[in-house]
Amino acid sequence: MLNSYIKVALIDITQHIVLGVLSVFPLVLKNPFYLPFAVLFSVFPDIDHVIVAKSFSIRKMLSLGRRPFLHSIPAVLLTSSLIYVLSGNYRFAYMVFITGTTHLVWDLCTGGVRLFYPFKRNFEIPKKWAFPLILFFDIISIIISLK
Ligand SMILES: [Zn+2]
Repeated sequence: MLNSYIKVALIDITQHIVLGVLSVFPLVLKNPFYLPFAVLFSVFPDIDHVIVAKSFSIRKMLSLGRRPFLHSIPAVLLTSSLIYVLSGNYRFAYMVFITGTTHLVWDLCTGGVRLFYPFKRNFEIPKKWAFPLILFFDIISIIISLK
């Protein structure tokens, strides 16, 4: 039987993957090669929990208080810019940017994020905003997949 920390982590990871893949689904349909990367970059910001907790203990990772540094707009911009420089593929970089942004959107709905890290202000949004934002990302994904 799974303990409650593992259940919380599995539910959180699943939500991030489903929302992340949905937000770039038009691009994944056009190029299925993107699917494993959409999954990976949907959960990528949570790597900072391991770094800050200095442990793979889920209990320690979930007990940090605030979400760490990868949960910010500068980190998502930096990651997607790095992907663009390395790959030269703007669709791929967009996919990384949107899956990371979708991760932030869901975390903004569930406890908040320090969006402009290193500034300490914690931002939150209502859960009802998540679906319209992801729909908006999908519309942009459709436009980008058509180019
Ligand atoms: Zn997170």
